[in-house]
Amino acid sequence: MRDVKVIAFDADDTLWVNEPYFRETEQAFCNLLKAYLPEESINNVLFKNEIGNIPLYGYGVKGFMLSMIETVSEITNNSGDLELINKTIALGKEMLNKPIELINGVENLLKSLNSDYKLVLATKGDLLDQERKLNKSGLEEHFHHVEVMSDKKSTDYSKLLKNLDCKPEHFLMIGNSVKSDVLPVLEIGAKAIHVPFHTTWVHEEVKENTNGFEFLKVSTISEISKFLR
Ligand SMILES: [Mg+2]
Repeated sequence: MRDVKVIAFDADDTLWVNEPYFRETEQAFCNLLKAYLPEESINNVLFKNEIGNIPLYGYGVKGFMLSMIETVSEITNNSGDLELINKTIALGKEMLNKPIELINGVENLLKSLNSDYKLVLATKGDLLDQERKLNKSGLEEHFHHVEVMSDKKSTDYSKLLKNLDCKPEHFLMIGNSVKSDVLPVLEIGAKAIHVPFHTTWVHEEVKENTNGFEFLKVSTISEISKFLR
């Protein structure tokens, strides 16, 4: 880690809690449609729609809301009451208005690193929603640059590094997703540390095969300071 100059942090479930809100909303959504199908089947249809819509809507709550609406039509066979749609929209809006719950140790860690490193926030999701969350988090002042990415593939990281004028060997990414925050970063020759979160979206899960890459995994975000100067 001696060469590291720029440290990028993922936001959702790395700096603040996010995924549990999706789980809660999915449950409420299934409850709304329980007269039509059991929970597991509703979740399957919703997941199918979400994944199908990612190329069109990208990641984030707005795309999730549209996928829920599509799921209502599908599950009710286009016969559902508009009230179901209204309630679905309300569930999404509730998500957008959630308070920010920082993950323990985040603030102190950013404070301690901010004079020695250039800190970057690199997140997927809706631009406005992520900006709003960052603003609410009170963490904005610690970041030199904020990048809301439409995806986190190795080509997206290459673009980010080019924009930051940073060589891969000087770049360290910290995040909760092996698929989005670790593997694509290692693929371009940069460094990454995995900080798992207790809840992971199925779409972000990777099987045991990590393409032969080895990487550091810490149990809490505060621990990363042990590996830095
Ligand atoms: Mg994340």
